[in-house]
Amino acid sequence: MPDEPAGGSPFRLPSPVEELVDPRLEARGVRLLLKRDDLIDPEIPGNKWRKLKYNLEAARRSGQGGILTFGGAYSNHIRATAAAGARFGLRTIGVIRGEEHLPLNPTLSYAVEQGMILAYLDRQTYRRKTESDVTEDLRRRFGDFYLIPEGGSNGLAVRGCAEIPDEITRDFDLVCCPCGTGGTLAGIAAGLRGEREAIGFSVLKGARWLDDEIRRLQEDAYATTRGRWRVNLDYHFGGYAKTRPELLSFIEDFERRHGLRLDRLYTGKMMYGIFDLADKHTFPTGTTIVAIITGPI
Ligand SMILES: *Cc1c(COP(=O)(O)O)cnc(C)c1O
Repeated sequence: MPDEPAGGSPFRLPSPVEELVDPRLEARGVRLLLKRDDLIDPEIPGNKWRKLKYNLEAARRSGQGGILTFGGAYSNHIRATAAAGARFGLRTIGVIRGEEHLPLNPTLSYAVEQGMILAYLDRQTYRRKTESDVTEDLRRRFGDFYLIPEGGSNGLAVRGCAEIPDEITRDFDLVCCPCGTGGTLAGIAAGLRGEREAIGFSVLKGARWLDDEIRRLQEDAYATTRGRWRVNLDYHFGGYAKTRPELLSFIEDFERRHGLRLDRLYTGKMMYGIFDLADKHTFPTGTTIVAIITGPI
């Protein structure tokens, strides 16, 4: 763990596990537990903290003087990295895709308030952001830094997420999580014991590359692949940040009945998928599912 922040650690770990009783699931003999990673920390919640934890430690040990990472103008990862840098006293640089738009949107103005330095790359250069001429140019501009990839997923992020399954002390068969870059799913699958399986719900359209990416991330973490996982590609609702009326009404209804607001980017899509698959008798009667509430941020 990185050093405790000044004023004591506010991190709520292990995150709570709560049962969600819902007649739609009961009718199918499915039991659902929620792993409330959204409650880990108000500024660095969910999988963002799990993915950053060992990277912050590595950044500090590397002596490189700060962290540089990449993201879109609305990136939760940028926001969380800025907050983590402020809390642990690490300089942060956020390289944003596209041009600067003023006034800054809430994500970026929050990042700046946390002390993050923002830089912008046009879309064409952004696509080549990991090539050495681009990173060298960034080093010339900002000095040495510890690089965290876009979305925060690398081997250390996988190791952080692999700690999730062992925190679940109740018996379960399946873990479900939303999938962006696949880092969270790669970690959860790696941390599973026995015959248990992880299902990731892709929030991106046509993300058939996710399986290879998850394998690559696990190899980065462990030099081998681990655990059993599947990626479900059927609940992206048009793609990243896209939505449909049936998703929005599901989220509304879920909040009315359970008092929990799911976000429309990630956890709403996963939960819709879980309920829909249960309706379609995909899970054998008696299945216990743990859904990771990875956010919202
Ligand atoms: C970033 C994020 C994800 C995506 O996680 P990956 O490791 O990139 O797959 C999922 N849920 C929430 C709430 C997020 O903010």
